Amino acid sequence: MEKKIRREDALEYHAKGRPGKIEVIPTKEYSTQRDLTLAYSPGVAEPCLAIAENSEDVYKYTAKGNLVAVISNGSAVLGLGDIGPEAGKPVMEGKGLLFKIYADIDVFDIELNTKNVDEFVRTVKILEPTFGGVNLEDIKAPECFEIEERLKKELNIPVMHDDQHGTAIISAAALLNALEIIGKNIEDVKIVVNGAGASAISCSKLYIALGAKVENFVMCDSKGVIRPDRNDLDERKSQFITSRDLHTLEEAMVGADVFIGLSKGNVVTQDMVRSMAKDAIVFAMANPTPEIAYPDAIEARPDIIMATGRSDYPNQVNNVLGFPFIFRGALDVRATEINEAMKLAAVHALADLAKKSVPDLVNLAYGESNLMFGRKYIIPKPVDPRLLTTVAPAVAQAAMDSGVAKHPIEDWDAYEQQLAR
Ligand code: NAP
Ligand code: MG
Repeated sequence: MEKKIRREDALEYHAKGRPGKIEVIPTKEYSTQRDLTLAYSPGVAEPCLAIAENSEDVYKYTAKGNLVAVISNGSAVLGLGDIGPEAGKPVMEGKGLLFKIYADIDVFDIELNTKNVDEFVRTVKILEPTFGGVNLEDIKAPECFEIEERLKKELNIPVMHDDQHGTAIISAAALLNALEIIGKNIEDVKIVVNGAGASAISCSKLYIALGAKVENFVMCDSKGVIRPDRNDLDERKSQFITSRDLHTLEEAMVGADVFIGLSKGNVVTQDMVRSMAKDAIVFAMANPTPEIAYPDAIEARPDIIMATGRSDYPNQVNNVLGFPFIFRGALDVRATEINEAMKLAAVHALADLAKKSVPDLVNLAYGESNLMFGRKYIIPKPVDPRLLTTVAPAVAQAAMDSGVAKHPIEDWDAYEQQLAR
């Protein structure tokens, strides 16, 4: 549960022993002279020649296929803002740790000292031979959009900016389940999105891909409602211009079915929540302080379904439910990209998993006795071991079905057993 962390404890955790959170460990034997001549010269020349002849063999003889680059320039780190590449490194190492423990994916974290989009793109592009995939992280909007779009086009390995798509995938799964519980259709619901940044735009687009109607959205940024008479809107915000005559978040909330908060803490009042439609869905996802606190929202409206980014309340929207398993599936079929079909497959796999009966160890980890699909359990918990064995195969299958898998899985039973090990 989310207890207040003391500064000195966090610093001691990172500094103790060998500084930082990750290291490199050899995977082959290295104790004899023979081992070493195989690992390095002259034995190593053989895989070099094999790969020179057939570049795809790099997946057979090197760590490329299980290696993801977590790449940032430190320009939008957590909620800390533009703290620079060195200061962002603990987060990128942390992401490496999570990739490893949840999906056994190895990570090199790469912190780039540039804010120039061309330079960033060029640098990542020439790193492609090393990696099986690229997780872009904590890069500020709007640069993050162009960087990801260009890299997706130019690279032949999966690229995903997790701050955009991770949140979108997990909140979309939560949204589908919340709608199912209250019996509303995604095509019909009125959705207010507070925030128009990296995560808000990407979430909204994914909800539209799942059936939400763009005309049912009202989006707000720091200057209020995205309206036709605003002359400061870029192309991305302009897609969400509303035709309704609304100026403020407060006005937009009246009668809304869904509130999506990806802005900042404490900007939603109890009265705003009270003004929403019956069985309102409130996802207040600003970190670390939600747009409205969980207890305040529930007190205002006992009928709402609420999610936040926090672990100390029900329904935590946490990116760790997505990226380890999405990359696992993508790497395992050597997908050339992470496309819409793969993201949608992850959404449905996550949503379905929440409807299955919960293993004891998950109940135990949360001090619960009977977690069950319902208003307080609309998405799986991060400790659920079934995330790996359900989300990764779903993503792999979608990569195959959408024609981007270079190395399709043939024996699914063997694959699932391998994941479960
Ligand atoms: P971002 O790209 O910087 O976008 C922030 C957006 O919030 C901007 O569009 C900004 O408006 C808008 N904003 C700021 N103050 C506002 C206000 N008072 N009312 C309405 N809009 C306001 O950041 P991001 O990466 O999308 O993240 C946004 C928030 O979501 C952060 O708190 C982040 O921690 C949280 N988040 C949570 C999760 C999760 O899993 N729980 C995942 C991702 C992000 P302008 O465009 O006018 O500047
Ligand atoms: Mg991030």
